[in-house]
Amino acid sequence: MAELKPYYIGAHVSAAGGVENAPLNAKKLSANAFAFFTKNQRRWDAKPLTTRSISLFKERCQKLGFSSEQILPHDSYLINLGHPEVDALDKSRLAFVDEIQRCQQLGLKYLNFHPGSHLRVLSEAESLDRVSESINFALSETDDVIAVIETTAGQGSNLGYNFSQIAQIIDGVFDKQRVGVCIDTCHIFAAGYPLNTYAECQSTFSEFAEKVGFEYLCGMHLNDSKVALGARVDRHHSLGQGEIGLEVFKFIMQDERFRGVPLVLETIDETVWAEEIQMLRSFSVHQ
Ligand SMILES: [Zn+2]
Ligand SMILES: [Zn+2]
Repeated sequence: MAELKPYYIGAHVSAAGGVENAPLNAKKLSANAFAFFTKNQRRWDAKPLTTRSISLFKERCQKLGFSSEQILPHDSYLINLGHPEVDALDKSRLAFVDEIQRCQQLGLKYLNFHPGSHLRVLSEAESLDRVSESINFALSETDDVIAVIETTAGQGSNLGYNFSQIAQIIDGVFDKQRVGVCIDTCHIFAAGYPLNTYAECQSTFSEFAEKVGFEYLCGMHLNDSKVALGARVDRHHSLGQGEIGLEVFKFIMQDERFRGVPLVLETIDETVWAEEIQMLRSFSVHQ
């Protein structure tokens, strides 16, 4: 029998002062996974990563035991790969290529991003096609890194709020080896997928298995939700403090399909991240 991969659990940590600080911040939480931004997520422009930053990042990851399969970098919030206007779409595509190149320079495997928004100009189907085309463009300009589509809450005109839409985007991507999915528990719940009970978790993740497939799962964001099921608003909460409760996190920690990919907290109180990580580990039966 193949040996089971470990659970990789961590949080979206700060990279203030340089990307090389992210692994240090993750280690302080006793995490064995982390997410971070490789540049300021609210600005278009960014200085290239320095050789010093790159080598320190790699050195520290190696020393602290973070391999590329334990790290899930997140791209800028400004990028919209489904943008209805040509100029804005081009700007987003180039920025996305830059984000992938930064990951490549850091020796990383994944880049997590939100699919995009139709801005009520295009139909959902048209905008989803653009997202696939944008991914194809970015993959053709780069090597190695997997583009990891995040499920969204469907706030405003954001795409990617159900598994069929994620499947449609993947369908339009030529290189299936370089596309993946990150499920955010807060987002799918806010988008209408129930997660309160064991049975609800079973049926929600079975639907994911059917429509998308666990072979595409490259990471998870573990968040509770401040808003109710189907409210279509993106408001994270600490684990067990919101409308979802703890059942889904027990489910994930006891289901082998979630092993071997970064499971990342984006909960609102970073002072309890270390405790949340410990709690998640305690839910695993194979401690
Ligand atoms: Zn995100
Ligand atoms: Zn998320």
